[in-house]
Amino acid sequence: MTPTSTALKQIQTFLATEKKMLLNGQWCAGQKGEILPAINPATEDIIGRFYAGGTGDVQVAIEAAHNSFHDKRWRNKTPAEKARILWRLADLIEEHGDRLALLETLDGGKPYQAARQGEIPMAAESFRYYAGWCTKISGRTSDISIPGDFHCYSRREPAGVVGLITPWNGPLVMAAWKMAPALAAGCSVILKPSEVTSLSTLYLAELIVEAGIPDGVVNIVPGPGATVGAALVNSPLVHKVSFTGSTQTGKSLVQAAMGNLKKLTLELGGKSPVIVYKDADLAKAIPGIADGIFGNAGQVCVAGSRLFAAPEIYDDLLSGLIDYAQNITVGDGVNPETTMGPLISEEHRARVTGYVAKGLAQGATLATGGIALDRKGYFMTPTILTDVTPGNCVAAEEIFGPVLSVMKTDHMDHVIAAANATDFGLAGSVWTRDISTAHKTVADIRAGLMWINCHGIPDMAIPFGGYNQSGWGREGGPEGIEYYTELKSVVTAL
Ligand code: NAD
Repeated sequence: MTPTSTALKQIQTFLATEKKMLLNGQWCAGQKGEILPAINPATEDIIGRFYAGGTGDVQVAIEAAHNSFHDKRWRNKTPAEKARILWRLADLIEEHGDRLALLETLDGGKPYQAARQGEIPMAAESFRYYAGWCTKISGRTSDISIPGDFHCYSRREPAGVVGLITPWNGPLVMAAWKMAPALAAGCSVILKPSEVTSLSTLYLAELIVEAGIPDGVVNIVPGPGATVGAALVNSPLVHKVSFTGSTQTGKSLVQAAMGNLKKLTLELGGKSPVIVYKDADLAKAIPGIADGIFGNAGQVCVAGSRLFAAPEIYDDLLSGLIDYAQNITVGDGVNPETTMGPLISEEHRARVTGYVAKGLAQGATLATGGIALDRKGYFMTPTILTDVTPGNCVAAEEIFGPVLSVMKTDHMDHVIAAANATDFGLAGSVWTRDISTAHKTVADIRAGLMWINCHGIPDMAIPFGGYNQSGWGREGGPEGIEYYTELKSVVTAL
C-alpha cells in the first residue's frame, strides 16, 4: 500500500506554511512566535514547521478552556448533540485518512500501511465509541439508613478543564484516546502533543473546527514538555491531567502535582513479558511475538520485550524468530515493501544501540541484529539477545526499540515469578493451547492487559493501563470515561 499522489499533494500544501496552534478557536503563532522543525526520521529532512507555544500561550489556552467550561457551551449541549459532533469528527478523520496516515509516516517513520489500516481507523473508532457513551453517563439513586424522609442520588459530572499530554510514538491515536472520552464527559480540553511529532495533531485540530466543536472547548498547544506540559500540571485552573509518556516523566508530574493535588491519569512505560509454553502453536506464535516487539520498530509501550520460553520448544521458537527478524524489510515507511521503519531520532537510536552494547557487556549473546544502518535515516536492524539474566539492563529497563530480550528459563514453574520481577506492569502475552494454563497464567501476572495467543491487539472498548510503575488509572472502555468525571452525591430532606 502506497500513499496516493493526491494525498502527497494535499500534504505538501498542508506543510507549505508554518502550522499554528489552536487557541480559543483561533489559529495563533504564539506570543513568542517560536518555530520548531518537523523532521522525517527516515530521511533526516525537515518536512514542515510549526509554532511552539510557551507558558503565556498555555495561560491563554487554559483561560479559553475555563471560560468555555463555565459558560457551558459544550457540556450543556444535549448528550445526543455531543454524540453527533463526535461522530462527525470520526467521519472527518476517515475522509482525511490518507493524509493523516501520510503525516504519521513522514513525521514519525511508521510504515504507511500500518498507519492507514491501523492507527487512522482506530482514532476514528475512538470518537465513535465514546460518542456512544455521551447518552449513557449517569449517576444513581440510593436508599439511606438515616431515619426520616430523604431522596438521595448521585450525579456524574464532567471533571472540568483537562490537560492532555501525549507522546511521540502514536500521536493521532493517543490524542483520540484522550480527547474522545474527555469530550464525551463534557470537559474542556487543552492538548499538548509531543514536540517530536506534532503534525497529525495539528491536522486533527482543523477537523475539530470543521466538526463544529465550539471555540475554546479544544485548544491545542504544541511545544516542549518542560514549559507547555509543566504549565498545564502547575495551573490551578486545570482540574485534571491525563498523561501518556515515560515513567520518568510521569514521576516528575507526580512531584509537580504535589502542591495542588491535581488529579492525574498516567499511562507510562512497560517491559511486557511474553510467555510461551511447550504446547504453543509456533506457526502463530512466531509472527505474533515478532510483530509484538518489532512493530513500529519496538517503539510501543506494550511491546513484548521479554521472552520466556519452555525449554522443549526453545530452539524451534528462537530459530523461527531469528528467521522472521532477518526477513523484516527495514526502510522508509512510504515504500510499500517496508515492514519496519526508522527509530524516531538519532539520539533515540544511540540510546537503543547503547542498550544492546551494554546488554552484551553484561553477558547477553547477540542472536541477530544490533546494527545501526549506515545510511540516511535513523534505521537499525531488528535485534534478538539471548542468555539474558534478570540483572541485565536489557531485562530490567524499557528500551523502546526493536530489541527482544530472551530470558533464560530452565523450568516453567519459575516463569511467573521471573515475569513479575519488573518495576513495570503494563501488558503481556501467554501462548499455549491449554485453556487452563492460559487463564491461570494471566491471572498470576501483574499487568493491566494480558493477551492469550496474540499480542498487542488494541480496542477502545478494552480498559487499558498499568500496574506498578506503568501508571495510574485506565483509558478505554466505560472505566476510561469515569476518569474524566467527578461524582457528586445529593441528599434532599423531603
Ligand atoms: P516523554 O515522557 O518524554 O514525553 C511524553 C510527553 O510529555 C511529551 O509530550 C513531552 O513533551 C511531555 N513532557 C515532558 N516533560 C514534561 C514535564 N515535565 N511536564 C509535562 N509534560 C512533559 O515520553 P516519549 O519519549 O514522548 O514517549 C515514549 C514513552 O511513552 C515510553 O516510555 C512509552 O512506554 C510511553 N508510552 C506509554 C503508553 C501507555 O499507554 N502506557 C503509550 C505510548 C507511550
